[in-house]
Amino acid sequence: MRAIDIHAHSTPQCFQREVLQGRSWHGMTAAEGELHNPRNAWTPEQRIEDMDSIGVDVQIVSTNVAFYKYDEEVATTVAIANDCNDEVHQMTMDYPDRLSGLATLPMQDAPSAIAELERAVTQLGFKGAMIGDHVNGHTFDDPQFLPFWKAAEQMGAVLLIHQALPTTVTPRLNRYHLPNSIGNLTDRVVTFATFVFGGVMDAYPDLKICLAHGGGYTCYGAGRMDRGWKVRPEARVNISQPPSAYLNRFYYDCLTHSEPALRYLIDTVGIDRVVLGTDWPADMMIDWPVGWVMGLSSLTLEEKEAILWKNLEKMLNL
Ligand SMILES: [Zn+2]
Repeated sequence: MRAIDIHAHSTPQCFQREVLQGRSWHGMTAAEGELHNPRNAWTPEQRIEDMDSIGVDVQIVSTNVAFYKYDEEVATTVAIANDCNDEVHQMTMDYPDRLSGLATLPMQDAPSAIAELERAVTQLGFKGAMIGDHVNGHTFDDPQFLPFWKAAEQMGAVLLIHQALPTTVTPRLNRYHLPNSIGNLTDRVVTFATFVFGGVMDAYPDLKICLAHGGGYTCYGAGRMDRGWKVRPEARVNISQPPSAYLNRFYYDCLTHSEPALRYLIDTVGIDRVVLGTDWPADMMIDWPVGWVMGLSSLTLEEKEAILWKNLEKMLNL
């Protein structure tokens, strides 16, 4: 069975070469880049070997979230994004049948983000970008992002939404790994809500958004968002349909670590909106993603094929 993974990360070798020698890289040090996980140091060759062992044919590679750097000077973030995207581009040139790219972008400055996305899509052959759930606290209903959504829609670029720590859970509780294990899921439903209630999905009907980690608590929270829309005028300021009507406008990766949760996601958003996402090579990844999906007894073979490769092949024109 063919398998295409939209949620797979890279810690740039150009960063590692500098920081592991004790030097800084655009102001970043070895403490960043998640180098505590030895797999983040792997070369592209080791990546391909591991993909072979877990049965993944193609990764859509995104640079780790440590490299978002939305809180830096714009020029610094632009330089970081340039280097990261150039390295992912080289990987895709070395392994064109196995690797494709998602850009990292200087989202704190919409014109710079648009320029780098355009370079990535038109010159580097990337499929889109991975961006956070917010930019320095500004959520995606903020008007500053409107030109970016318009540009992404026109380019046909897919935007994978993926948090960076801290998440919304962190200020309440920074123990037990909860800022990641449930914080990611909390951030994702906030992002869905801001895109929908903010009117972004109405303004840009062809915008391709993929919510990582199965969209977090989005599906489970849709009924309550609908109730709020029905009974409260402030929930209807920008939208004339209930929020649940927008569920099938997004894509979702299958990274739920739960068969019943994945089944509920499919039944709620439609099988054509669910794609393979593993979070390679993080410790929170699906260890044997293809084996896991293939072994799920509540999914039909057609549903497994849709998730493992058919939906992404169509969505990304692979
Ligand atoms: Zn991830």
